[in-house]
Amino acid sequence: MKITKIFTFDSSHMLDGHDGKCQNLHGHTYKLEITVSDGLIRGGAKDGMVMDFADLKAVAKQEIIEPFDHAFIYHGENARESQIAALLEGWNMKTLRLACRTTAENMAFEIYGRLKKRGVCVCSVKLWETPISCAEYEGE
Ligand SMILES: [Zn+2]
Repeated sequence: MKITKIFTFDSSHMLDGHDGKCQNLHGHTYKLEITVSDGLIRGGAKDGMVMDFADLKAVAKQEIIEPFDHAFIYHGENARESQIAALLEGWNMKTLRLACRTTAENMAFEIYGRLKKRGVCVCSVKLWETPISCAEYEGE
């Protein structure tokens, strides 16, 4: 059985070295679809559920929404992106350092890992960068 919950968050980013307009600093309202797959819980308060939507919301809020929302997300190993982040941090603005380039694909992978680490039986993460473009990671 699978359940899906949808979240949104707003972030700015850039893809340094990109050969198109994504090299520029810009932002997205990301739409995040988290799908959890597991057997149904039998008995107790969560009887008949894969996972309580409220529990999924709490984990997603802590692990994804709070760090990503209204942050400049950047590739920590990229010199130019790191310079911009340092400038923003100097002004007490929110940033989030990732170990990879901030493509929708890499971010879907990152989000999957953050949920997995918290014990969520996540089976796929679909991240919409625009209403017509998304990346989906379905695990190994
Ligand atoms: Zn973008």
